[in-house]
Amino acid sequence: MSRFFSKSLQNLEAYTPGEQPKDNKYIKLNTNESPFIPPKKVMKRVLKNANKLNLYPDPECYELREKLSKTLGVDKDEIILGNGSDEVLNFIFKAFCDNTIDAAFADITYGFYEVFANLYNINYQKIPLKNDFSIDEEDYFNLGKTIFIANPNAPTGLFMPLDKIEKILKNNPQNIVVIDEAYVDFGAKSAIKLIKKYDNLIVCRTFSKSRQMAGARLGFAISNKEIIKDLNKIRYSLNPYNINRMTMEAALCILDNERLVKKNIKKIIEARKYTITELKKLDFEITDSKANFIFAKHKKLDGEEIYTQLKQRGILVRHFNKDKISAYNRITIGTKGEMCALIESLKVILED
Ligand SMILES: *Cc1c(COP(=O)(O)O)cnc(C)c1O
Repeated sequence: MSRFFSKSLQNLEAYTPGEQPKDNKYIKLNTNESPFIPPKKVMKRVLKNANKLNLYPDPECYELREKLSKTLGVDKDEIILGNGSDEVLNFIFKAFCDNTIDAAFADITYGFYEVFANLYNINYQKIPLKNDFSIDEEDYFNLGKTIFIANPNAPTGLFMPLDKIEKILKNNPQNIVVIDEAYVDFGAKSAIKLIKKYDNLIVCRTFSKSRQMAGARLGFAISNKEIIKDLNKIRYSLNPYNINRMTMEAALCILDNERLVKKNIKKIIEARKYTITELKKLDFEITDSKANFIFAKHKKLDGEEIYTQLKQRGILVRHFNKDKISAYNRITIGTKGEMCALIESLKVILED
């Protein structure tokens, strides 16, 4: 740390991304990316537009919001785009939390909520999940805080039904409730429809997981026009050109290929089912994941040990050295072939 670093940030703990090894020798099941490369059409379209890189991109992202609004069945003024949904979350923390409005989120959830709260010096309450990792919606009633819920949750993969989300919305009429739906496409239900009914709801989504574009950095939020206006005020104060030209073109093209995206999602859901069945045979306990990852612990072997041994065998999974979940590993669902390799490696590890 330099002697110039702001005193208020000296204890800041930054987000720790999953490993991104420089060599290609690993089967990567650690950061919930899609195993499927983008369609050729996307690559062609990006290249074709590279000759405009001397010009700033459209700060309003008009064309992309228009197309996305049709895909989602919402108005284009009910959408804000971000450089990954992480940036949208950043805007939300800046806009709707401060020293009078705390944040609230589960004790086991997406790690970035706590990082943003600390970055902005916002007080926060961590609400314990139940022993089975599910959320008790009543714990979230009338908190007087801005609430962040990942649904499906990470790293558990558990989905909370929409009637419970509605109860939380109804019981926090004076506060914003953010539903982070990074993984919703893998078999869960979206709360987007509820934005018409509840003026305190923001839904966050991303192109990183189901739309095969983690490297392009594109996320978005859906809410009513007034809230989107507030968020745009923050966006124009931080980074008005937050979506670059290449990403914009890639996204426009991937939205024209919804059938392919859905086909790949289906493959991942099938591979998830296969993996769960096989892991159960090997004495793993697994949460009922509706995401493109599973959360698994072995009845005997320690979580960190499994992580280390898999890494030695060229397979990366994500282990969190944290209270309550250190026995588990979060394993991204890749292709069927990758999941077969995982199972074969685990068989060898467990025989030793
Ligand atoms: C991956 C993830 C994000 C961030 O996604 P980006 O769009 O890549 O920034 C947000 N929330 C949750 C719960 C995630 O797992």
